[in-house]
Amino acid sequence: MIIEAQGLTKTYQSKSGPVHALAGLDLQVPRGTVKALLGPNGAGKTTVVKMLTTLIRPDTGTAVIDGIDIIRHPKSVRRIIGVSGQYAAVDENLTGFENLEMVGRLYHLGGAAARRRAQELIDLFELTAAGNRPVKGFSGGMRRRIDLAGALVINPKILFLDEPTTGLDPRSRIALWDVIKRLVADGTTVLLTTQYLEEADQLADDIVVIDDGRVIAEGTSDQLKAQIGGHRVVVALVDATDVGTACEILARHGSGEPSVSTDGRGVEVAVTDGPTALQNMLSDLRAAEVNLHDAGMRRPTLDDVFLRLTGHKADLTVTDNDTNASGPKLSKRAQAKRAQKRAADADASDVEKVT
Ligand code: ATP
Repeated sequence: MIIEAQGLTKTYQSKSGPVHALAGLDLQVPRGTVKALLGPNGAGKTTVVKMLTTLIRPDTGTAVIDGIDIIRHPKSVRRIIGVSGQYAAVDENLTGFENLEMVGRLYHLGGAAARRRAQELIDLFELTAAGNRPVKGFSGGMRRRIDLAGALVINPKILFLDEPTTGLDPRSRIALWDVIKRLVADGTTVLLTTQYLEEADQLADDIVVIDDGRVIAEGTSDQLKAQIGGHRVVVALVDATDVGTACEILARHGSGEPSVSTDGRGVEVAVTDGPTALQNMLSDLRAAEVNLHDAGMRRPTLDDVFLRLTGHKADLTVTDNDTNASGPKLSKRAQAKRAQKRAADADASDVEKVT
């Protein structure tokens, strides 16, 4: 294992009381693989990354990165890792090239080597045209790429990516995924955090689902999906007043309780024998004169897994495809957690300073 953490805990003290960010988290990441930490707002993902990258210390627990203890030898850990955080850490007034050169200098690469590496990364990230423009004119996707490039200046063995594509449009996300896939193909180990089920699905060999500071499930995407069984039948009603009848019919042929979408027109249920259940449902719906816009089957998503494991949705009221520049919309629970975090950040005087 290149990352091995055991029993990590972290409690922040804030004016509103203690916040248990991590409540005994174990984590193992095999060398050369991608592990995704998947969880809603406030689950503790960033806290794990800050700890493993030596920005904060655990209250209790241990972690070893490539054989190096993060508490006893933080400087040695920093020499072999790269980190790209949630908000691009770049100097707005410098060009993309200058930003990368500066990072190289901070790592004591020497002038010529720093410039050479900066140019390599500009080429790798296809930022050639923008490399000589100040970052303040960059789009969100370009900033993310420059920030990720900054994390790669020293060719890290392990790359930590904290929500690398939050707020990016779908095209930029796919472009960034491609870059990450190339790095992994070249042997880099990646630990990434994400709220996007699709992102974990796309990039990760293994997924750890966390909620309230602890691991609630772990496995490959397929293993997690298998936990909630087979297909699901989904119908879209023309008339929302038919929802009661539709639920009765779907329950009759399904293997669980049907759920209704927030607009009251979509009903879905898990099924064991998908095609037969769908046919039976359709004929009963027709007999009951329930008109449909649409009907079909879908495989379970990681969102379904999350709902099953935690009893609540993944705290995002939108699907992975609805991402826009302002980021995902948040449910009330997620908004409350965000507010708590902001208040906590404002209380910075009460909490441990990041060193
Ligand atoms: P997000 O997806 O919103 O970034 P996350 O899963 O990364 O969430 P963390 O940032 O690790 O979650 O936060 C975990 C919990 O710890 C949250 O309840 C948050 O409010 C709290 N927390 C984080 N940083 C601090 C801090 N400096 N002081 C007090 N509480 C904090």
